[in-house]
Amino acid sequence: MAIHKLGIIGYGGMGSYHHRKLPKPDNLRYVAACDLLPNRRDLAKEDGLTVYETPDALLNDPEVEAVLIATPNHLHFPLAMAALEHGKHVICEKPATLTAGEFQQLMDAARERKLLLTCHQNRRMDKDFLMIRKILQAGELGEVFRLESRVEGSRGIADTWRRKKEFGGGMLYDWGSHLIDQILLLTPGVVTSVFMRQQHLIESDADDNFRLELEFDTGLSALVEIGTCNFIMHPLWYVLGRKGSAQIDYWDLSGKIVTLTNETIRWEDEIKPNIAGPSITMAPRSEDTVAVKPLPEVERDPAFFYRNFARALEGTEPLCVAPAQTLRVLQIIDLAFASAEQNQVLHCRL
Ligand code: NAD
Repeated sequence: MAIHKLGIIGYGGMGSYHHRKLPKPDNLRYVAACDLLPNRRDLAKEDGLTVYETPDALLNDPEVEAVLIATPNHLHFPLAMAALEHGKHVICEKPATLTAGEFQQLMDAARERKLLLTCHQNRRMDKDFLMIRKILQAGELGEVFRLESRVEGSRGIADTWRRKKEFGGGMLYDWGSHLIDQILLLTPGVVTSVFMRQQHLIESDADDNFRLELEFDTGLSALVEIGTCNFIMHPLWYVLGRKGSAQIDYWDLSGKIVTLTNETIRWEDEIKPNIAGPSITMAPRSEDTVAVKPLPEVERDPAFFYRNFARALEGTEPLCVAPAQTLRVLQIIDLAFASAEQNQVLHCRL
């Protein structure tokens, strides 16, 4: 059995996680790593890897067939380009690059050299996302017109390169890369407009809170929102269809689906006091017209990414995170930043 040998550029938190924790098929393994920091190189050595001081030295190792780029975000583009120029296949951590233009250059370079280029979109296997996908696929909510996806914490952004725009910090690049990718997988439509507002509570430049609205040509609208100063959190997911709603409250996957069982609505002739005060429209519906159901069971497959990458290396399967999908996420990120800067809704066809 031929073994595919891979190297890691940036043996920090995520680089080491890839080697130590992520399940891989028997025919694929990490053999080398490089990091600028001596303590991270020592760790890589302890973890059984051949260690290099510079990316260039690792890229000149003929044993290494593919590399993972797991450095701070601003270095993904130059390092991925160098790797492709050295004839290596590339896995980029997210965000693959800081702009769609950079990623397009990588796609061109990979195509020219017949090399693989992909982005580690591991949150495609998060159970909350899989549950929402299953609910939508089952059509339980009728025509879905609103998707809201949020991730919130209350501790600000970790005090590392993640806080600084010059290193590709900020929440749109960090969590936005995952959540935009998920939203695009949930709906078949074309994105027709992008609007973002961002806030800077900690540093003046990188966003630590943002609210991104996407409109689709199907009539669906989606919200992606990240907060880092939320002491009370919104639900992770809130989905509205014409015949039902679904909500996932938190990472513990609590939540419910409520669907319509009787479409006939009996409107009161007169305003009667109810829990919403003197309102006919917002008076609660009677309980016998809806059913409350638990969220569906889902299985996650944590081995999906490397199993697919090994098969793609052998030419037996297309990449599950296709470059065109990553490009689309980055095009939306580009437009989101431009929209926030111009304080305008930007129209597009993506
Ligand atoms: P980190 O700061 O822990 O690690 C980055 C490492 O890169 C450090 O050890 C640093 O010394 C090294 N480095 C910096 N410049 C280098 C260079 N020129 N050559 C070699 N090494 C260099 O950061 P992290 O949390 O591991 O994040 C790394 C990447 O992983 C980021 O792009 C981040 O967005 C991504 N990430 C992804 C997930 C996910 O769920 N997919 C989770 C966390 C981080």
